[in-house]
Amino acid sequence: MNKIVSATTMKALVYLAPGKKSLEERPKPDLTAPTDAIVKITKTTICGTDLHILKGDVPSCQPGRILGHEGVGIVDKVGSAVTMFKPGDHVLISCVSACGKCVYCRKQMYSHCTTGGWILGNTIDGTQAEFVRIPHADNSLYPIPDGADEEALVMLSDILPTGFECGVLNGKVQPGSTVAIVGSGPIGQAALLTAQFYSPAEIIMIDLDNNRLEVAKRFGATTTVNSADGKAAETVMAMTEKRGVDTAIEAVGIPATFELCQQIIAPGGTIANIGVHGKKVDLHLESLWDRNISITTRLVDTATIPMLFKTVSSRKIDPKLLITHRFKLDNILDAYETFGNAAKTKALKVIIEA
Ligand SMILES: [Zn+2]
Ligand SMILES: [Zn+2]
Repeated sequence: MNKIVSATTMKALVYLAPGKKSLEERPKPDLTAPTDAIVKITKTTICGTDLHILKGDVPSCQPGRILGHEGVGIVDKVGSAVTMFKPGDHVLISCVSACGKCVYCRKQMYSHCTTGGWILGNTIDGTQAEFVRIPHADNSLYPIPDGADEEALVMLSDILPTGFECGVLNGKVQPGSTVAIVGSGPIGQAALLTAQFYSPAEIIMIDLDNNRLEVAKRFGATTTVNSADGKAAETVMAMTEKRGVDTAIEAVGIPATFELCQQIIAPGGTIANIGVHGKKVDLHLESLWDRNISITTRLVDTATIPMLFKTVSSRKIDPKLLITHRFKLDNILDAYETFGNAAKTKALKVIIEA
Protein backbone atom coordinates (compact mmCIF):
# COMPACT_ATOMS: atom_id res chain seq x y z
CA MET A 1 0.00 0.00 0.00
CA ASN A 2 2.65 2.49 1.07
CA LYS A 3 4.70 1.61 -1.96
CA ILE A 4 1.88 2.54 -4.36
CA VAL A 5 1.33 5.86 -2.57
CA SER A 6 5.00 6.81 -2.72
CA ALA A 7 5.19 5.99 -6.41
CA THR A 8 2.37 8.31 -7.44
CA THR A 9 2.49 11.13 -4.92
CA MET A 10 5.09 13.57 -3.73
CA LYS A 11 5.59 16.28 -1.16
CA ALA A 12 5.01 19.84 -2.31
CA LEU A 13 4.68 23.32 -0.84
CA VAL A 14 1.24 24.61 -1.80
CA TYR A 15 -0.11 28.17 -1.74
CA LEU A 16 -3.60 27.91 -0.20
CA ALA A 17 -4.77 31.50 0.24
CA PRO A 18 -3.18 34.86 1.12
CA GLY A 19 -1.18 34.18 4.29
CA LYS A 20 -1.69 30.41 4.04
CA LYS A 21 0.56 27.65 2.75
CA SER A 22 1.16 24.00 3.59
CA LEU A 23 3.38 21.05 2.82
CA GLU A 24 1.07 18.51 1.18
CA GLU A 25 1.03 15.18 -0.63
CA ARG A 26 0.30 15.90 -4.29
CA PRO A 27 0.12 13.67 -7.36
CA LYS A 28 3.48 13.39 -9.12
CA PRO A 29 3.39 15.46 -12.32
CA ASP A 30 3.35 13.71 -15.68
CA LEU A 31 4.22 14.78 -19.22
CA THR A 32 1.45 16.79 -20.88
CA ALA A 33 3.23 17.80 -24.11
CA PRO A 34 5.97 16.13 -26.17
CA THR A 35 8.26 19.08 -25.34
CA ASP A 36 7.94 18.56 -21.54
CA ALA A 37 10.39 17.00 -19.14
CA ILE A 38 9.78 15.79 -15.60
CA VAL A 39 12.65 16.71 -13.27
CA LYS A 40 13.30 15.18 -9.86
CA ILE A 41 14.32 18.15 -7.72
CA THR A 42 17.53 17.82 -5.72
CA LYS A 43 17.83 21.42 -4.49
CA THR A 44 15.53 24.42 -4.63
CA THR A 45 15.16 27.74 -2.81
CA ILE A 46 12.68 30.44 -1.82
CA CYS A 47 12.49 33.78 -3.64
CA GLY A 48 11.17 37.16 -2.44
CA THR A 49 8.58 36.70 -5.18
CA ASP A 50 7.19 33.66 -3.33
CA LEU A 51 6.62 35.92 -0.31
CA HIS A 52 4.77 38.38 -2.58
CA ILE A 53 2.56 35.53 -3.81
CA LEU A 54 1.85 34.49 -0.22
CA LYS A 55 0.75 38.02 0.60
CA GLY A 56 -1.75 37.80 -2.27
CA ASP A 57 0.16 40.39 -4.37
CA VAL A 58 0.41 38.21 -7.50
CA PRO A 59 -3.13 37.55 -8.82
CA SER A 60 -1.88 35.33 -11.69
CA CYS A 61 -0.86 32.77 -9.05
CA GLN A 62 -4.01 31.09 -7.82
CA PRO A 63 -4.61 29.12 -4.60
CA GLY A 64 -3.68 25.46 -4.99
CA ARG A 65 -0.45 26.26 -6.82
CA ILE A 66 2.84 24.54 -5.92
CA LEU A 67 5.32 27.41 -5.48
CA GLY A 68 8.97 27.76 -6.55
CA HIS A 69 10.73 28.76 -9.77
CA GLU A 70 14.36 27.95 -8.95
CA GLY A 71 16.25 24.70 -8.62
CA VAL A 72 18.46 21.92 -9.89
CA GLY A 73 17.64 18.26 -10.34
CA ILE A 74 17.83 15.05 -12.33
CA VAL A 75 15.73 14.45 -15.44
CA ASP A 76 13.21 11.70 -14.68
CA LYS A 77 11.26 11.54 -17.95
CA VAL A 78 11.22 13.41 -21.26
CA GLY A 79 8.57 13.88 -23.95
CA SER A 80 9.13 12.52 -27.46
CA ALA A 81 10.13 15.92 -28.86
CA VAL A 82 12.85 16.63 -26.28
CA THR A 83 16.23 16.12 -27.97
CA MET A 84 18.73 17.84 -25.65
CA PHE A 85 18.07 15.86 -22.46
CA LYS A 86 17.46 12.28 -21.36
CA PRO A 87 16.55 10.61 -18.07
CA GLY A 88 19.43 10.75 -15.60
CA ASP A 89 20.80 14.09 -16.88
CA HIS A 90 21.73 16.60 -14.19
CA VAL A 91 20.07 19.92 -15.00
CA LEU A 92 19.64 23.53 -13.93
CA ILE A 93 16.08 24.88 -14.20
CA SER A 94 15.58 28.42 -15.52
CA CYS A 95 12.90 30.43 -13.72
CA VAL A 96 11.68 31.41 -17.19
CA SER A 97 10.34 28.81 -19.63
CA ALA A 98 11.01 29.50 -23.32
CA CYS A 99 9.71 27.84 -26.48
CA GLY A 100 12.69 29.19 -28.45
CA LYS A 101 10.51 29.83 -31.51
CA CYS A 102 8.04 32.65 -30.88
CA VAL A 103 8.65 36.27 -31.86
CA TYR A 104 9.93 37.18 -28.36
CA CYS A 105 12.12 34.09 -27.97
CA ARG A 106 13.74 34.92 -31.34
CA LYS A 107 14.79 38.23 -29.74
CA GLN A 108 16.07 36.37 -26.63
CA MET A 109 13.24 38.03 -24.71
CA TYR A 110 12.31 34.72 -23.12
CA SER A 111 10.42 36.38 -20.29
CA HIS A 112 7.74 37.32 -22.82
CA CYS A 113 7.58 33.91 -24.55
CA THR A 114 4.00 33.58 -25.80
CA THR A 115 3.66 30.07 -24.34
CA GLY A 116 6.18 30.41 -21.51
CA GLY A 117 7.85 33.23 -19.59
CA TRP A 118 7.60 33.20 -15.81
CA ILE A 119 5.01 30.45 -15.42
CA LEU A 120 6.76 28.07 -12.97
CA GLY A 121 5.32 28.40 -9.49
CA ASN A 122 2.98 31.06 -10.91
CA THR A 123 0.51 29.77 -13.51
CA ILE A 124 1.80 26.18 -13.44
CA ASP A 125 3.15 24.10 -10.54
CA GLY A 126 6.69 24.93 -9.45
CA THR A 127 9.90 23.56 -8.00
CA GLN A 128 9.27 23.45 -4.24
CA ALA A 129 8.35 19.78 -4.56
CA GLU A 130 9.98 16.42 -5.19
CA PHE A 131 9.17 16.57 -8.91
CA VAL A 132 8.30 19.32 -11.38
CA ARG A 133 7.06 19.39 -14.97
CA ILE A 134 9.19 21.67 -17.13
CA PRO A 135 7.54 22.81 -20.38
CA HIS A 136 9.75 23.60 -23.41
CA ALA A 137 12.45 21.52 -21.74
CA ASP A 138 15.06 21.88 -24.52
CA ASN A 139 15.15 25.67 -24.03
CA SER A 140 14.35 25.90 -20.33
CA LEU A 141 16.86 23.47 -18.83
CA TYR A 142 20.65 23.72 -18.84
CA PRO A 143 23.02 20.75 -18.50
CA ILE A 144 25.16 20.60 -15.35
CA PRO A 145 28.59 19.03 -15.86
CA ASP A 146 29.91 16.39 -13.45
CA GLY A 147 31.51 17.77 -10.33
CA ALA A 148 29.77 21.17 -10.50
CA ASP A 149 28.60 22.70 -7.22
CA GLU A 150 24.82 22.26 -7.14
CA GLU A 151 24.20 24.84 -4.43
CA ALA A 152 26.04 27.57 -6.28
CA LEU A 153 24.09 26.73 -9.43
CA VAL A 154 20.71 27.16 -7.71
CA MET A 155 21.60 30.87 -7.67
CA LEU A 156 21.65 30.77 -11.49
CA SER A 157 17.95 29.91 -11.87
CA ASP A 158 16.85 33.43 -11.05
CA ILE A 159 18.81 35.79 -8.80
CA LEU A 160 22.14 36.01 -10.64
CA PRO A 161 20.64 36.50 -14.11
CA THR A 162 18.08 38.94 -12.62
CA GLY A 163 20.72 41.08 -10.90
CA PHE A 164 22.94 40.91 -13.97
CA GLU A 165 20.42 41.41 -16.80
CA CYS A 166 17.96 43.83 -15.19
CA GLY A 167 20.55 45.70 -13.08
CA VAL A 168 24.07 45.51 -14.51
CA LEU A 169 23.44 45.10 -18.25
CA ASN A 170 20.42 47.42 -18.44
CA GLY A 171 22.23 49.87 -16.13
CA LYS A 172 25.23 49.96 -18.54
CA VAL A 173 27.84 49.55 -15.80
CA GLN A 174 31.21 50.64 -17.24
CA PRO A 175 34.86 50.42 -16.18
CA GLY A 176 35.59 53.33 -13.85
CA SER A 177 31.93 54.26 -13.43
CA THR A 178 30.04 54.90 -10.20
CA VAL A 179 27.22 52.54 -9.30
CA ALA A 180 24.63 52.71 -6.51
CA ILE A 181 22.57 49.63 -5.67
CA VAL A 182 19.48 50.48 -3.67
CA GLY A 183 18.50 47.37 -1.71
CA SER A 184 20.95 44.72 -0.55
CA GLY A 185 18.73 41.67 -0.41
CA PRO A 186 19.66 38.62 -2.51
CA ILE A 187 18.92 40.39 -5.82
CA GLY A 188 20.87 43.52 -4.87
CA GLN A 189 23.78 41.30 -3.79
CA ALA A 190 23.58 39.42 -7.10
CA ALA A 191 23.82 42.77 -8.92
CA LEU A 192 26.78 43.65 -6.71
CA LEU A 193 28.62 40.41 -7.53
CA THR A 194 28.03 40.68 -11.28
CA ALA A 195 28.63 44.45 -11.57
CA GLN A 196 32.25 43.71 -10.74
CA PHE A 197 32.71 41.97 -14.14
CA TYR A 198 32.93 45.54 -15.51
CA SER A 199 35.29 47.01 -12.89
CA PRO A 200 33.29 50.07 -11.84
CA ALA A 201 35.34 52.48 -9.71
CA GLU A 202 32.74 52.64 -6.97
CA ILE A 203 29.80 50.53 -5.88
CA ILE A 204 27.69 52.16 -3.19
CA MET A 205 25.30 49.77 -1.47
CA ILE A 206 22.22 51.28 0.20
CA ASP A 207 19.91 49.47 2.65
CA LEU A 208 18.22 49.78 6.05
CA ASP A 209 19.79 46.59 7.42
CA ASN A 210 23.34 46.84 8.75
CA ASN A 211 23.88 43.08 8.53
CA ARG A 212 23.11 43.11 4.81
CA LEU A 213 25.42 46.11 4.36
CA GLU A 214 28.20 44.18 6.14
CA VAL A 215 27.66 41.28 3.74
CA ALA A 216 27.80 43.74 0.83
CA LYS A 217 31.20 44.97 1.99
CA ARG A 218 32.50 41.41 1.95
CA PHE A 219 31.06 40.97 -1.56
CA GLY A 220 32.90 44.00 -2.91
CA ALA A 221 30.87 47.13 -2.16
CA THR A 222 33.27 50.08 -1.89
CA THR A 223 30.91 52.06 0.37
CA THR A 224 27.71 51.32 2.25
CA VAL A 225 24.97 53.73 3.25
CA ASN A 226 22.30 52.96 5.85
CA SER A 227 19.26 54.89 4.63
CA ALA A 228 17.39 54.72 7.95
CA ASP A 229 18.12 58.40 8.66
CA GLY A 230 16.30 59.48 5.48
CA LYS A 231 19.43 61.23 4.23
CA ALA A 232 20.73 58.64 1.76
CA ALA A 233 20.38 61.00 -1.22
CA GLU A 234 22.41 63.74 0.48
CA THR A 235 25.03 61.22 1.58
CA VAL A 236 25.46 59.80 -1.93
CA MET A 237 25.62 63.29 -3.48
CA ALA A 238 28.30 64.28 -0.96
CA MET A 239 30.28 61.12 -1.80
CA THR A 240 30.18 61.89 -5.53
CA GLU A 241 31.10 65.59 -5.46
CA LYS A 242 27.42 66.47 -6.01
CA ARG A 243 27.51 64.67 -9.36
CA GLY A 244 25.47 61.58 -8.47
CA VAL A 245 26.00 58.06 -9.80
CA ASP A 246 26.28 56.82 -13.39
CA THR A 247 24.13 53.78 -12.66
CA ALA A 248 21.41 53.54 -10.02
CA ILE A 249 20.03 50.03 -9.63
CA GLU A 250 16.67 49.78 -7.88
CA ALA A 251 16.43 46.38 -6.15
CA VAL A 252 13.53 46.77 -3.72
CA GLY A 253 10.29 47.66 -5.52
CA ILE A 254 8.75 50.43 -3.41
CA PRO A 255 8.17 54.13 -4.26
CA ALA A 256 10.81 55.43 -1.79
CA THR A 257 13.66 53.45 -3.35
CA PHE A 258 12.78 54.40 -6.92
CA GLU A 259 12.52 58.05 -5.84
CA LEU A 260 15.96 57.76 -4.26
CA CYS A 261 17.36 56.54 -7.60
CA GLN A 262 15.91 59.64 -9.27
CA GLN A 263 17.58 61.87 -6.66
CA ILE A 264 21.06 60.40 -7.04
CA ILE A 265 21.35 59.82 -10.80
CA ALA A 266 24.13 61.80 -12.50
CA PRO A 267 23.61 63.58 -15.84
CA GLY A 268 23.84 60.96 -18.57
CA GLY A 269 23.18 58.17 -16.07
CA THR A 270 20.89 55.17 -16.15
CA ILE A 271 18.30 54.09 -13.59
CA ALA A 272 17.86 50.34 -13.93
CA ASN A 273 14.77 49.06 -12.19
CA ILE A 274 14.71 45.48 -10.92
CA GLY A 275 12.12 45.74 -8.13
CA VAL A 276 8.59 44.40 -8.54
CA HIS A 277 6.40 47.47 -7.99
CA GLY A 278 2.89 47.02 -6.66
CA LYS A 279 2.24 50.75 -6.16
CA LYS A 280 2.49 53.72 -8.51
CA VAL A 281 5.68 55.77 -8.29
CA ASP A 282 6.12 59.44 -9.20
CA LEU A 283 8.43 60.23 -12.09
CA HIS A 284 10.12 63.58 -11.47
CA LEU A 285 10.43 64.88 -15.00
CA GLU A 286 10.39 68.41 -13.59
CA SER A 287 13.93 67.77 -12.35
CA LEU A 288 15.06 65.08 -14.78
CA TRP A 289 13.88 66.39 -18.19
CA ASP A 290 17.26 67.99 -19.02
CA ARG A 291 19.54 65.40 -17.38
CA ASN A 292 20.10 63.04 -20.36
CA ILE A 293 19.18 60.06 -18.24
CA SER A 294 17.64 56.71 -19.16
CA ILE A 295 15.28 54.56 -17.16
CA THR A 296 15.07 50.85 -17.93
CA THR A 297 12.70 48.11 -16.85
CA ARG A 298 12.99 44.40 -17.52
CA LEU A 299 11.75 41.02 -16.45
CA VAL A 300 14.66 38.58 -16.34
CA ASP A 301 15.06 36.60 -19.57
CA THR A 302 17.77 34.26 -18.18
CA ALA A 303 19.46 34.55 -21.59
CA THR A 304 22.76 35.04 -19.74
CA ILE A 305 22.62 31.73 -17.82
CA PRO A 306 25.23 30.04 -20.09
CA MET A 307 27.64 32.96 -19.65
CA LEU A 308 27.07 33.20 -15.89
CA PHE A 309 27.47 29.43 -15.64
CA LYS A 310 31.03 29.80 -16.95
CA THR A 311 31.88 32.59 -14.52
CA VAL A 312 30.67 30.43 -11.63
CA SER A 313 32.49 27.29 -12.87
CA SER A 314 35.73 29.26 -13.25
CA ARG A 315 35.16 30.84 -9.81
CA LYS A 316 35.21 34.40 -11.13
CA ILE A 317 32.22 34.82 -8.85
CA ASP A 318 31.05 32.65 -5.97
CA PRO A 319 27.27 32.88 -5.58
CA LYS A 320 27.43 30.27 -2.83
CA LEU A 321 28.32 33.19 -0.57
CA LEU A 322 24.64 34.17 -0.76
CA ILE A 323 23.50 30.96 0.95
CA THR A 324 22.96 31.44 4.68
CA HIS A 325 20.67 28.54 5.69
CA ARG A 326 19.91 24.96 4.64
CA PHE A 327 16.76 22.87 5.17
CA LYS A 328 15.19 19.58 4.08
CA LEU A 329 11.98 19.76 2.04
CA ASP A 330 10.16 18.26 5.07
CA ASN A 331 11.07 21.44 6.97
CA ILE A 332 10.24 23.92 4.24
CA LEU A 333 7.79 25.76 6.51
CA ASP A 334 10.74 26.53 8.82
CA ALA A 335 12.68 27.66 5.75
CA TYR A 336 9.88 30.13 4.91
CA GLU A 337 9.84 31.34 8.50
CA THR A 338 13.61 31.95 8.40
CA PHE A 339 13.59 33.58 4.96
CA GLY A 340 10.55 35.72 5.77
CA ASN A 341 12.20 37.13 8.93
CA ALA A 342 15.51 38.07 7.33
CA ALA A 343 16.14 41.10 9.55
CA LYS A 344 16.16 38.80 12.58
CA THR A 345 17.61 35.60 11.07
CA LYS A 346 20.13 37.34 8.75
CA ALA A 347 18.94 35.09 5.94
CA LEU A 348 19.88 35.80 2.34
CA LYS A 349 19.23 32.63 0.33
CA VAL A 350 18.05 29.37 1.88
CA ILE A 351 18.76 26.03 0.23
CA ILE A 352 16.06 23.36 0.38
CA GLU A 353 17.10 19.80 -0.26
CA ALA A 354 14.34 17.66 -1.75
ZN1 LIG B 1 12.53 34.59 -8.05
ZN1 LIG C 1 8.70 31.60 -26.99
